[in-house]
Amino acid sequence: MDVKQAFAELGLSLHTNHAGRAAPVADPAGNARTRGTLVERTLQVSLFEAAFGCVKRVTGTERATCMRCAGSGEHAGTWTLGCKCLQCFGRGLHAEQCGAGSVGKVVRCEACTGSGLFQAAPPPCPACKGKGQAEHRAWVVDVQIHAGTLDGSEVASHDIRVCAASHQSARNFRIKVQVQKHPLFKLDQDRLSVIVPISVLRWSLGAELEVPTLDGRLRVPLPARPAAFWIRDQGWPQFGKPDQRKPLFVVPKMVYPEKLDAEGQRLLQALDARCKLPEVEGWNRCVQAWVGSA
Ligand SMILES: [Zn+2]
Ligand SMILES: [Zn+2]
Repeated sequence: MDVKQAFAELGLSLHTNHAGRAAPVADPAGNARTRGTLVERTLQVSLFEAAFGCVKRVTGTERATCMRCAGSGEHAGTWTLGCKCLQCFGRGLHAEQCGAGSVGKVVRCEACTGSGLFQAAPPPCPACKGKGQAEHRAWVVDVQIHAGTLDGSEVASHDIRVCAASHQSARNFRIKVQVQKHPLFKLDQDRLSVIVPISVLRWSLGAELEVPTLDGRLRVPLPARPAAFWIRDQGWPQFGKPDQRKPLFVVPKMVYPEKLDAEGQRLLQALDARCKLPEVEGWNRCVQAWVGSA
């Protein structure tokens, strides 16, 4: 007998590492084992509601088990479900009467289909009409959304207040926040950004760029280069602190004219001829000199 076998006979395993320890059994729903039904909801909030916080009232209904029949759908009481068939006295067969006392051929009992047993099901529960479920029960909760709530985050249980009007029964709420898309702003985790399209001609003129922020429009001087930049304290708020903001990420997007009419082309050509661009002129002179020497 080797050591392994000896251990096996003692009910021990030589493999005493992680394999010997049973993994904790996960609940199929992944929730803590608390009493009450689990209610899962995705709560849609606008970008501004998530940024500055709000209270959302959420209502719902749920099916409850019928208290009369404990969900079985059967009429409560005492019912005979199986006994000897009284039509054939449990034999399952009948002898056909052929008049004048003579006995005809033997046929199968139709009442018990030949089994000799009478079998019945209890009548349906009058309260739920056999469905086993009671009326819908309504619930109402007020959900506190704090400033700076992120998309996909879960509302803490202490921020979900069950309203007094709700049907009292134990429920666990799992409410996930979904921040709706906004036509101007883009929220990626806690990075709030905005893409501002600007015509290349407008950019050449300089001056200011109008940037939408969570507090309204803001005019900022055009940066020297068309690169993304930050505006301090105009981005996504810190959680629970609407006044403490991260920076807003601004992406200027140069837009070039696609189609110009004859007048537009003439104006652009005139503008181009009028522009004295030292870099372009110097380059042209170099190219001409090089072509001449070749
Ligand atoms: Zn029978
Ligand atoms: Zn019932």
